[in-house]
Amino acid sequence: MKEYISSHLRQVQERIQCACNRSGRDTHEVTLIAVSKTKPLEALQLAYDCGVRDFGENKVQEILQKAPQMPKDTRFHMIGHLQRNKVRQVLPFVTMIHSVDSLRLAEEIQQEAKRISKIVDILLEVNVAGEESKFGFSPEELINIIQQICNFSHIHVCGLMTIAPFVENPEQNRDVFKKLFQLYVDIKHKNIDNISMSVLSMGMTGDYEVAVEEGSTMIRVGTGIFGAR
Ligand SMILES: *Cc1c(COP(=O)(O)O)cnc(C)c1O
Repeated sequence: MKEYISSHLRQVQERIQCACNRSGRDTHEVTLIAVSKTKPLEALQLAYDCGVRDFGENKVQEILQKAPQMPKDTRFHMIGHLQRNKVRQVLPFVTMIHSVDSLRLAEEIQQEAKRISKIVDILLEVNVAGEESKFGFSPEELINIIQQICNFSHIHVCGLMTIAPFVENPEQNRDVFKKLFQLYVDIKHKNIDNISMSVLSMGMTGDYEVAVEEGSTMIRVGTGIFGAR
């Protein structure tokens, strides 16, 4: 498993480098999040030994199990749909919540964050392609939501996240990534208090190279590093 993870990780890093070169970006602008959901602790430890510090999980229970067993400088990103009644448990263990998909969830995070005197970094999930099956705000409602969340004292909105449709050819998602990047830039230019727009979380195993070319700053890669789930 060690060989598998280290060689796949190296391959992903090389591809990120090439995508950066093609699009005139600096590799340091792109953070690779190793999506370790369903994988055993050992897999995370091996990736850690290869230098990975950012891990993505989509279940609160898994974060609660894994986080206390990893070295202190490991960062866990919550990337899956988060239920409001799990916010209290997970908050102490996550560095960023990528999947804030409702105002009610943001309110719950605000309340809990205030209770434990923590400022929580979040991303707003956007359903760019308007898929029925997906969570996230529509591009149209986003600005209105931001104008409300910017008043939340213990939430810091760092940027946007999307899960692009499952497609055969990653080129089919280029327009989705372009659209999210445009939203990100438009919101950034509004200079709203408490809203940074410095993180753009888009791109997974099937399409991260295209996402990097279109301005992604965090890619979430599971299968490409750890193998099929
Ligand atoms: C599982 C998951 C990923 C990683 O998917 P892969 O195709 O295995 O790279 C990325 N983002 C989210 C939100 C996920 O749930």
